[in-house]
Amino acid sequence: MGKFDNHFQKAIEALHSEGRYRVFANLERRGAAFPLSWLYEGNTRREVVIWCSNDYLGMGKHPSVVQAMMDAAERIGVGAGGTRNISGTHLPIIELEGELADLHGKESALVFTSGYVSNIAGISTISKVLPDCIIFSDELNHASMIDGMRNSGAPKKIFRHNDVAHLKNLLSEVPLGRPKIIAFESVYSMDGDISPISDFCDLADEYNALTYIDEVHAVGMYGPRGGGIAEQEGLLDRIDVIEGTLAKAFGTLGGYITGSAALIDAVRSYAPSFIFTTALPRPVAAAATASIRHLKISTSEREGQQQAVAKLKKLLVMAGLPLMSSNTHIIPIFVGDAVQCKKASDRLLEKHNIYIQPINYPTVPKGTERLRITPTPHHTEHMILELCDALVETWETLSLPCDGVKHVVPMHQHVSLQPFPASGG
Ligand SMILES: *Cc1c(COP(=O)(O)O)cnc(C)c1O
Repeated sequence: MGKFDNHFQKAIEALHSEGRYRVFANLERRGAAFPLSWLYEGNTRREVVIWCSNDYLGMGKHPSVVQAMMDAAERIGVGAGGTRNISGTHLPIIELEGELADLHGKESALVFTSGYVSNIAGISTISKVLPDCIIFSDELNHASMIDGMRNSGAPKKIFRHNDVAHLKNLLSEVPLGRPKIIAFESVYSMDGDISPISDFCDLADEYNALTYIDEVHAVGMYGPRGGGIAEQEGLLDRIDVIEGTLAKAFGTLGGYITGSAALIDAVRSYAPSFIFTTALPRPVAAAATASIRHLKISTSEREGQQQAVAKLKKLLVMAGLPLMSSNTHIIPIFVGDAVQCKKASDRLLEKHNIYIQPINYPTVPKGTERLRITPTPHHTEHMILELCDALVETWETLSLPCDGVKHVVPMHQHVSLQPFPASGG
């Protein structure tokens, strides 16, 4: 027994009683065979198909990305050696930042150890530097953006999800001369919907606001060069700050912001979460650069993903499963109850060798629990058919609902960054 263990146990018990205690599957990717993986249970292992990876394009196993990481490790070693200020700045990071600035058509880019950190550093520093700044935030923004806003201490106004009229209303209440930030995402990761970017940019022009977009679930996958939804819609130059991750479609690790040289230099100079933490390891930076370069030119991964997505969506609709409306590669299937959601996930794994993690509160609002499926270009036609059959069997056996009632509670209310209940993603 450790000190205060009764408190820790009580906190865990609360999660069990609500059916949302999280269990991580012990998986080992089968290298080039991904999405096939080994699932380890005690002393045994069996083969499962992963259907919920955020390595959306399978770039984590791409030969040129793997090779870049191995070459860099052999040539220059693994660790960064310090913060960027203390001997942690090295050529692979400089190259990576150049690649990212180019990807988004911006003057500069700054790399962080994760996308989460890049949002904390970006949002909090920009809003602290701007005098008397006020932030306008979509109610479904990611926990890392909310963390950045809390960190900044700047006042914020929350607009209804993707609601242009509501945002306009809120903007019009604040004096024109006062600096403003509109913070939103392009693709929302749990619903798979896309924000009205150009409308938000119009409002930003009208009301003197800076636009800050999180393209984490779009970079690598949308736009002719993988520059995200803003690139796809020809809006790169209308967005002031584009934030992204290297850990999802690019298959590695790290996060970044891109923007004007002055803005990026200010964040570099003032953000504690940039200054006081060790830089990204050199092999990781080299692998990320290889991945971005590949996806700027190659379109087969994006096309393969879109084909797999279209096939699966069609089959699920035909089977009468409660697909939540999504116009992207993210396919959420509505369950609406934490215990049932966990049961469905368990059954898919036990009986069908299919791994889809249950998505429960606080990642999504209570009552909107779901399975979230993310097809990659490496899921075969056969795997897609098997998945559909397995889902139908699971829905029938557990008598799960076939109509997706969507009731949305603002993320700002239910993502608690206070110690209890724990926040997760
Ligand atoms: C995953 C995620 C992040 C954080 O990115 P990491 O690189 O995983 O830290 C930021 N924003 C959104 C919307 C995300 O889903």
